[in-house]
Amino acid sequence: SAGAVIVGASHAGVQLAASLRQSGWGEAIRLVSAEPSLPYHRPPLSKAFLTGRQTAEQIVLKGPDFYAAQGIDLMLATRVEAVLPHEKRVVLADGESLAYSALVLATGASARRPALPGAGLAGLHVLRDLADASGLKAVLEAAGSIAILGGGYIGLEVASSAVEAGKRVTVVEMQDRLLARSLPPSLSHWILELHRSRGVDVRLGARVRRFMHERGRARGIEIEGAEPIEADLVLVGIGSQARTGLAASFGVPLSAGGILVDERGRTGLDGVYAIGDCAAQRNGQTGEVTRVESVQNAVDQARRAASDLTGTPLPPALANWFWSDQYEHKIQIAGLMEPGCREILRGDRRTGRFSVLMTRDGRLRTVVSVGSPADHMSARKLVAEGAVLDHDRARDIATPLAKAVL
Ligand code: FAD
Repeated sequence: SAGAVIVGASHAGVQLAASLRQSGWGEAIRLVSAEPSLPYHRPPLSKAFLTGRQTAEQIVLKGPDFYAAQGIDLMLATRVEAVLPHEKRVVLADGESLAYSALVLATGASARRPALPGAGLAGLHVLRDLADASGLKAVLEAAGSIAILGGGYIGLEVASSAVEAGKRVTVVEMQDRLLARSLPPSLSHWILELHRSRGVDVRLGARVRRFMHERGRARGIEIEGAEPIEADLVLVGIGSQARTGLAASFGVPLSAGGILVDERGRTGLDGVYAIGDCAAQRNGQTGEVTRVESVQNAVDQARRAASDLTGTPLPPALANWFWSDQYEHKIQIAGLMEPGCREILRGDRRTGRFSVLMTRDGRLRTVVSVGSPADHMSARKLVAEGAVLDHDRARDIATPLAKAVL
């Protein structure tokens, strides 16, 4: 039979191909990537790759021999342009077509662009793929200053990398706190103080008027009620948009900005799956249909889709988790942020080693750990179980978190 066609070869697509083989899939696997380079880890693009601590060769997901050895036909610099669901074929940009018995959309997301005057200027950077990161890295090396629109993870990681490289950094955030979507206010405050203490000029609650330019190139950000922020380089990091165009073009239902799938990654169309950043799924913790953007989510969804395709037992659904590196701090999050949680502080914020535990109806829902990997590892399990904690023991950093369960 025709085998699997996987559209997109990043964290989700590559894991799916690997898991299919591990689970005994005997048919062809075609892994189609619009990008020209071997599939790579995306997180270092704003961190170790940008600072030069890791090269492009060092961040590949799998070595060059892996694909042939596993019988995975990796088709680089190849774009799927259309899907013919009745014929079970995909059409490539060059007009060739591939037959499939299973089609997996792992098309990911693209950087969102702001609807502001000057948004189309040359020299206005976004950061999503290796080409963006290579371009940004080259320009950053020659720049004295950078202005970053967006105080989310990508903006703050780039800020930290740029400070390390000795650049003058300004972060412009429209909300009145940093990382408002994924962190409680106490942690937004800690991160704000961290960046300010390293010399970053953070502007909260900013109303952006336009991007300034010099001879057609972006040169800064103009905000209301303040001096214009001039910089040699402007980066926009205001979130991402799922790439759903291909799915929508052949009638796959969308929801919450992504491709709607069940717990096995099935879209409801015969043989068609979606996994990773492009997919929207009912979340086991919050009960809401959401698109989650993390390596863990991409990998777990890929494993579950592979199990469904091969008829092997589904891996258990685990808690969501995520990390971010800023300066010398590793920030790790287990669970998704929910409104109306109570906070328990474990440890001392000033030491840079602490966790914030969030409970709802007495149950552990989210844990943000800073410099506390052991807490994070326990938290993944405890959040998935919805553990009930003894608050006094949970506050005491000398007691392992797992021992604070009632
Ligand atoms: P993507 O990585 O977006 O890949 C999709 C691929 O599909 C792309 O290569 C695209 O070119 C290709 N494609 C799309 N359409 C087509 C088509 N029609 N034909 C062929 N190919 C196509 N997550 C964490 O957990 N921790 C972190 O610290 C972290 N840091 C990050 C830092 C940066 C700078 C970025 C950009 C992301 C970061 N993330 C992090 C998020 C994480 O990288 C994503 O969640 C993950 O990459 C999602 O994987 P994916 O395979 O679903 O999609």
